[in-house]
Amino acid sequence: MATTVPRAEMASSRVDRRTLVVAGNGMVGQKLLEILVERGATAEWDIVTFCEEGRLAYDRVGLSSFFTGTSAADLSLVAPGFFDAVGLEVHVGDAVASVDPEAGTVTSVRGATIAYDALVLATGSYPFVPPVPGKDLTGCHVYRTLDDLEAIREDAEGRCVGAVVGGGLLGLEAANALRSLGLETHVVEFAHRLMPVQIDDGGGAALRRRIEDLGVVVHTGMATTEILPGPDGRVAGMRFAGEDDTDLDVDLVVFSAGIRPRDELARRAGLEVGERGGVVVDEACRTSDPRIYAIGECALVEGRIWGLVAPGYHMARVVADRILGGGATFGGADLSTKLKLMGIDVASFGDAFAATPGAESIVFSDPVANVYKRLVVSAGGTQVLGGILVGDAAMYQTLVQMVRGDMPTPRNCEELVLPARAGSGAATGMGVESLADTAMVCSCNSVSKGAICAAVEGGATDVPALKACTTAGTGCGGCVPLVTDLLKLELRRAGVEVRNNLCEHFDYSRQELFDIVRVHRLTSFSQVLADHGRGLGCEVCKPAVASMFASLGVGGSILDRDQAPLQDTNDHFLANLQRDGTYSVIPRVPGGEITPEQLIVIGQVAQDYGLYCKITGGQRIDLLGARVEDLPGIWARLIDAGMESGHAYGKALRTVKSCVGSTWCRYGVLDSTGLAIELELRYRGLRAPHKLKSAVSGCTRECAEAQSKDFGIIATEQGWNLYVCGNGGMRPQHAQLLAAGLDHDSLIRTVDRFLMYYIRTADRLERTATWLNKLEGGLDHLKAVVLDDVLGIGAELEAEMDRHVADYRCEWASTIGDPDKLRRFRTFINSDEPDPDVVFVPERGQRRPAFTHEKQEVRLP
Ligand SMILES: Cc1cc2nc3c(=O)[nH]c(=O)nc-3n(C[C@H](O)[C@H](O)[C@H](O)COP(=O)(O)OP(=O)(O)OC[C@H]3O[C@@H](n4cnc5c(N)ncnc54)[C@H](O)[C@@H]3O)c2cc1C
Ligand code: SF4
Repeated sequence: MATTVPRAEMASSRVDRRTLVVAGNGMVGQKLLEILVERGATAEWDIVTFCEEGRLAYDRVGLSSFFTGTSAADLSLVAPGFFDAVGLEVHVGDAVASVDPEAGTVTSVRGATIAYDALVLATGSYPFVPPVPGKDLTGCHVYRTLDDLEAIREDAEGRCVGAVVGGGLLGLEAANALRSLGLETHVVEFAHRLMPVQIDDGGGAALRRRIEDLGVVVHTGMATTEILPGPDGRVAGMRFAGEDDTDLDVDLVVFSAGIRPRDELARRAGLEVGERGGVVVDEACRTSDPRIYAIGECALVEGRIWGLVAPGYHMARVVADRILGGGATFGGADLSTKLKLMGIDVASFGDAFAATPGAESIVFSDPVANVYKRLVVSAGGTQVLGGILVGDAAMYQTLVQMVRGDMPTPRNCEELVLPARAGSGAATGMGVESLADTAMVCSCNSVSKGAICAAVEGGATDVPALKACTTAGTGCGGCVPLVTDLLKLELRRAGVEVRNNLCEHFDYSRQELFDIVRVHRLTSFSQVLADHGRGLGCEVCKPAVASMFASLGVGGSILDRDQAPLQDTNDHFLANLQRDGTYSVIPRVPGGEITPEQLIVIGQVAQDYGLYCKITGGQRIDLLGARVEDLPGIWARLIDAGMESGHAYGKALRTVKSCVGSTWCRYGVLDSTGLAIELELRYRGLRAPHKLKSAVSGCTRECAEAQSKDFGIIATEQGWNLYVCGNGGMRPQHAQLLAAGLDHDSLIRTVDRFLMYYIRTADRLERTATWLNKLEGGLDHLKAVVLDDVLGIGAELEAEMDRHVADYRCEWASTIGDPDKLRRFRTFINSDEPDPDVVFVPERGQRRPAFTHEKQEVRLP
């Protein structure tokens, strides 16, 4: 650990050097030092830092990762050798005890007295502990420093129940820590919802349900009045205000009821402090003494404490500039935050509570998936002003850019709060290309898109390099996905091959990870993450790994206990989410062949549940407008009539379309319908990197359009011709002939190998056409692997497919028969209250969802 560096060694003997003292080496104090060093301040200034904690600055934002294996060294923010530079001195484990503004000196706890020309207070804040009796008992903790966390970990050993006082941002982090230490965990919040500062009632309710699903017990509207001791004198219980005087038995308590600025030095030195604490500073972050500045969580700027790291860094930049003679000012900061609490995305940004005159809110709430989104827009919906996202914050970066005006707000802005769906603009965002160069990508460090692009042009080729040269993504980390997208975009533009890691949690491409899962026979996401990844996982890697398990037939059904949390919204409900929050139901109709009895049942179900019916391009019937609570009832009746899931919601085989072939058509040479049915039943439920479509035509007239499919088959006098890697969609591509004149068995074997090879090697969300386009060696390579078995994996691929066929079970049938799985659809069962957000209007004898302008009123939460 670095300690005091003798002052004599600090600098040259020039007499005109000045001394800057920085009290506090936390996140903001360290940022100030870095900026000063970068701007060459040490040429004129000797900078002396006092660091009260026994270790140099570390990433407090990432503190909780200490419980998931991140070491104190990993969290360090100080580059090795940083304090060895001439002009820098640090006193570790020593605090400034007093300031004498008149003499211009500070004196430390250990007795060092240093004269300063400028002093910066960067002393941060301390956790507020409500003054309840028993708060100091053994077993009571706070959650602020690495030492605190070490103490909690030690104390939790052998204990059973822990409680956190405070259901705010930090309280929930602390609760997660207790949970990860194996304690039954309670959160006690005084307000009537969780995170009352950042999110509204709707968001609080969704967050609560999600947290309770993880086994944490949440008590809101409860005021803790006493911590009760046990016979051994340590914590044994908690008592609350109110008529219900039931005590809660606990072994350990963590207080996380807010922060208070550490302004004690300033108070004692006679500097102006706020009524409720905080060192009062002006826009230059200068205190009532012009030689003393205050930054970070100890500073009261514009009457408020800015309790996030980004405003603190902004203040550090201002003070560095002022010390170097500049005129920078702090005019407030964006308090937008995106966090992952217990694996749950929570974001609050811009005018989240619709305080702007005329502002309106568009609310999407899915109480079953526990996803809540509130989008605040200006009158008429022309500009996004702010919002709250709980459970799905994929659109956070895009929405923040819209709030800042760096990206246009689209016309149908309600689309922005719908969950990600394949092919929708909402799913993909507006694209990083449409960001203005001046758009602020990293708010913590004020790094624009232009600066990131320039850094890539200047030679940064990966995220760590970009972080190092621009500091983007080194604050709260919320912008890292956007930084990654920009990096990829710029590299591609420069013609550089882009390393295709699945996401920030895995240093492997999908293909590499698939091989790892397959070879090591891994069956749970936590195992994959622990052995081959890092962090908690995200909305990219979780469904991708879930899809691998499903393709390999391991880990059980996609809605089994361990698998269910990994699935995206469609798979989560085994149905396709529509733009109004309802779902579509598509039973499988193999080869488009359906009995009159089944048609009647479909009609009756549609009538009874008020569903809109449409014949799809894949020769089946889409029933749209189903409410989530109705899905099990609908499927029970369809399954009773001999139908099964059509997997329209999954990245899986959709349909094998067919013409009537030789059975009816006078041109038909082979039984295309029979083959289509056989193929559809063989490959049904097969999970893949993307959806799979197929078709069989009975002759070369090609009525089933087989050459536009992922695998398409055309009957000829000589046998079956197999075409592969055709796609419709946005960029249509014709399929290419893989093999001609195949007999039935060789055809099946060839399709088995082709599909399994694609599943093994394609990237996430990569359709077969794109895969083939990128495949080294193209069609020739594919033929060599599939037909000539040059890699010697043919038998393996076939065996994998045989296993899939043998293990297949209809996902809906196994859901209907399992009360545990049905529970996710249960919230609305027996509820007479329809979801008021779902509004239909009549159209051509059926009904469809209303557009925003057709709804009578915009609902507020
Ligand atoms: C668990 C946790 C999670 C968080 N998550 C987020 C997040 O997701 N996003 C976000 O933006 N913010 C988050 N924060 C808040 C963020 O960490 C703070 O905003 C940031 O650390 C403030 O930096 P600071 O330098 O002002 O204070 P600190 O980092 O607290 O540093 C102050 C330092 O000064 C020292 N000190 C105090 N008095 C003296 C003295 N007299 N002499 C010498 N040294 C002294 C203290 O011991 C401390 O080391 C989180 C905080 C915690 C605890
Ligand atoms: S593809 Fe051939 S067999 Fe099939 S319907 Fe058309 S003409 Fe008839």
